[in-house]
Amino acid sequence: MQARTGFTVVVCDQAGCCPKPGRREVLAALRAVVRTHPYGVLIRSGCLFQALRGEVSPCSHGGVHQAGPGAFVLVQRCDTALRPLGSPVVAGPLHEADDTAALCEWLKKGIDAGEPLPFHLRPVALGHDG
Ligand SMILES: [Zn+2]
Repeated sequence: MQARTGFTVVVCDQAGCCPKPGRREVLAALRAVVRTHPYGVLIRSGCLFQALRGEVSPCSHGGVHQAGPGAFVLVQRCDTALRPLGSPVVAGPLHEADDTAALCEWLKKGIDAGEPLPFHLRPVALGHDG
């Protein structure tokens, strides 16, 4: 199936953002998706949550989470000229290999079919408990 839409996936990857276990796997999996997608772009960025203080930052920035909640990524849907479509979404934390696999599957197929980000990959609202 020919993709009609693309995406830019931005990994929150300043020193300390991604916890060590899993970090390489997340990056490798995203690289693999981008390599095989005609309109996929991967960007490793500074902390996406830089404006937030360490203790409220959802990524491991600042080291307060220690082993970390897992990697966070920002996904912007794009057209085939890489012009943005709609609003970006944040996915994460990618705790397990299954989470990364689900994100990759959505990038490969779901995003082009107009499916929303799988519910379990959506972060809980910042600054609210439950
Ligand atoms: Zn970060």
